[in-house]
Formats: sequence, structure tokens, C-alpha cells
Amino acid sequence: MARCPKCRTKVQIPQRTIWLPMRGHESIQLNIGVFYCPKCRQQWRAVLGRRQAAGTPAKFEKAGEMRSNPTPAEVRMWEILKGQVMPNFPNHIFYRQVVAFGYILDFYCPTLRIGLEIDGEIHDDQKEYDKQRDTNLARRGIKVLRTRNEVVFNNPQALATQLCKIIGDRTTPWYKRIFRKRK
Ligand SMILES: [Zn+2]
Repeated sequence: MARCPKCRTKVQIPQRTIWLPMRGHESIQLNIGVFYCPKCRQQWRAVLGRRQAAGTPAKFEKAGEMRSNPTPAEVRMWEILKGQVMPNFPNHIFYRQVVAFGYILDFYCPTLRIGLEIDGEIHDDQKEYDKQRDTNLARRGIKVLRTRNEVVFNNPQALATQLCKIIGDRTTPWYKRIFRKRK
């Protein structure tokens, strides 16, 4: 409920609502309601709520660019995930270049919370950043599997096996996991 700033008439429902990034805090989105007063025809906006977005608008734009210009290794990985080497999991879909918790992941499955990163040449400073990034994502329950360019091309079978094991771990019910550990 909001009141018309001009004539104080109560207006229950906004005409429409929009999500906009908050100035200065780009990864926070504000839910803005556009109100209209039927009595005096005044139009105004009010903040109805806020949410933490997965990333900043710039991040989403960058991810979109990367999605439209995939590297050869990413194209190959896409084929592997789409059932050429891996079995197809219809309930667990991997998406390309996904923004999650402020980071762009090469591949990400939201239902399993598994990320997949294909690394090219790694520099030492990049390594430190990657480690930090994996820790932050792990805190959110996301497991990131890192692989090298060469592995994707030369040994996709090994990669698929490794990934299937992680998927298996994540889809096994907890009581079976406990049972297996105790044996
Ligand atoms: Zn009014």
C-alpha cells in the first residue's frame, strides 16, 4: 500500500513493478513499484523491496559476450556434456557462462551446484584469485571442477568419469552416503 504524495489517497497495487540495480551498489537490485493515483492522476515510484543479484549488470553483459564467442575448448566441452561422452542427465542441465554469486563460471549446473572451469595458461596471480573464488563458491555450496584445455581435447573420457563421480556424490541421498562411509 502506498499513499499518493499529492492528495494522500491510498493506492493498493502498483501499475507495474521493475527491478533496477541500486546506484553505487550495482549487484543489489531494487524492486520499484510505479504507482498511479486514480483521483489526481499523480504518478510516482516507490521502492518495494530489494534482492541480491547474482552479479552486476556489467558481469551479465560480459558473460553474454563470452557466451556468444566460445573458445574451441568450450565448444568441445559443450559437446561432451551434451551426451557425446557423458551420459545425458535430463534433470541436471549445464549452462554456459553463468553468473553465480558475483563470478562467471564457464559451465554451471544450478540443480547440482556444480561449476566447471576450463583453464588455459595459468599465471601465479590468477591462481591465487581462482583459489579465493573457489573458496567463496564452496561457501555457497558450489563445487567447482577445474580442468585444462588439453584434457578436454585429449582425454574427455577421464574428465567425464571425474564429473560423473561428482554428480553421483551430489545426487546420492544422505542416508546412502552415510551407509557407504561406515562400511
Ligand atoms: Zn492523488
